[in-house]
Amino acid sequence: MRITDVRAMPVSDPVPEEKRHRTDLGTKVKTDATLVFVEAEDGTTGVGAALGSPPTIASIVEHELAPQLLDADPLYTERLWERMYAGSRWKPSLERGYSQPREDRRGITLEAISGIDIALWDLKGKLLDQPVYTLLGPVRDDVQAYASGGWAPGERAETEMRGYAERGFDAVKMRVVGEDDFSIENAVIRVEAARRGIGDDVDLMVDAHGSLDVSTAKRLAKRLEPYDIEWFEEPVSPDDHAGLAEVRRSTTIPIATGEREFTRFDFLSLMEERAMDVVQPDVARAGGFTEIRRIAAMASARGLRIAPHAWGSGVLFAASIHLAMALPNCHLLEVSQAHMPLMYDLFEEDYEIRDGRVYAPDRPGLGFTLRDDYADRFEYVEGPEYVF
Ligand SMILES: [Mg+2]
Repeated sequence: MRITDVRAMPVSDPVPEEKRHRTDLGTKVKTDATLVFVEAEDGTTGVGAALGSPPTIASIVEHELAPQLLDADPLYTERLWERMYAGSRWKPSLERGYSQPREDRRGITLEAISGIDIALWDLKGKLLDQPVYTLLGPVRDDVQAYASGGWAPGERAETEMRGYAERGFDAVKMRVVGEDDFSIENAVIRVEAARRGIGDDVDLMVDAHGSLDVSTAKRLAKRLEPYDIEWFEEPVSPDDHAGLAEVRRSTTIPIATGEREFTRFDFLSLMEERAMDVVQPDVARAGGFTEIRRIAAMASARGLRIAPHAWGSGVLFAASIHLAMALPNCHLLEVSQAHMPLMYDLFEEDYEIRDGRVYAPDRPGLGFTLRDDYADRFEYVEGPEYVF
C-alpha cells in the first residue's frame, strides 16, 4: 500500500460571546485546529489534527512534510516519524555542500509531524480493520476521566465544581489564575470553595497555566496543602524546568507539567531535573502516538504517571482516548468542560463518557467519522484564539 495524498485543512470554532471564559491567557474567542488527511492508494483516508497556528501548520504539512511521505508505505509509522523528524533537524546547505542544523525542530514543525502521525495511525487502523489502541497494545478498555474546568470567580467555584461531581466525575480540575487580579488569598478562597463543593471523596487538581513566579508558586502550594490537592499543574513557566523542580521540592503536592513540551528530549530534561510527578504530553503537539509511547516508556522507568493533556479538536481528544488505553502508566484523561463544539460536535458518533470514565470506541482507526457539514460548520477564521 502506498500513500498517494497528504493535505491539511485549518478549522475554527468561534465561542459565542456569552460562553467565553477569561483566564490569564485572555478571553477565549475561538478554538483552532488543523485537520490532516493522509490518503492511501485504495482511497482509505486517515485523519489527524495538529495544534499550532493553522495556516502555518497547513503549509508545513503540504509543502515540507507531504513530499517525504508520498509513495511510502503508511504502515511504517516509526520509519516515517524518523524521516520527518530527521528532515526537521537538518537541511542541506547549497552554498557549503553539507547539512546544517535547523532552528525549527520544535514548535509548529513538531505539531505538524504530530498531526500527520495521528493520521497515519488512524489510516493504519482503518487498513487493518482494528482500533488504534488495539494496534498500540491495549492495557484497558476504559479510563478514569477528570472534568477540566474551574473558571468561576470567588465562592462561585463551589457551585461550578460541585456540578461536575454531580455529573459523575470523581476527579476535577480548576484554574487558580482565573482572575484579572490574581492573589494568593483569592486563589485559596476559590480552592476552599471548590473543596467544599465536591466533598472529600473527589480528587481536586489545580492549574496555574505556567503563569506564577517561583516564590509565589511555592507560597501558594504551601497554602493549598490542607485541601488535599491531587496535583499542581504548571505552577511556573514551562520554560523554567529548574523552577518547576524547586517548587516540587518545596511542597507535598505532586507537580504536573508537559502540555507545552515537544519530543522525548524535552521530557528527558524535565525528568533529569526531577521537575514533575505527573507527565502531560499532548498527542497533537509532542509528536503523535509514535513519540508519546516513547515518552511514556521513559516515564515508567522513573515511576512517573501519565495524564495526557487533551484540549482542542475532537480528533485530538479521540487520539488521546486511544493513547490512554495503551499506556500502562496512564491513570487519568482530561475531559474539557468548556464550550467546544469542535471537540463535541465534529463527529457523527458520540464519545462514551459516563460515571466519570471514558470508554474506548470499538471501531477501526480512531473510530470516529467527520460529519458531512464539518467544513462549513468549522470554517477557518483568521486571528488569535485569545484576546485581551
Ligand atoms: Mg494545563
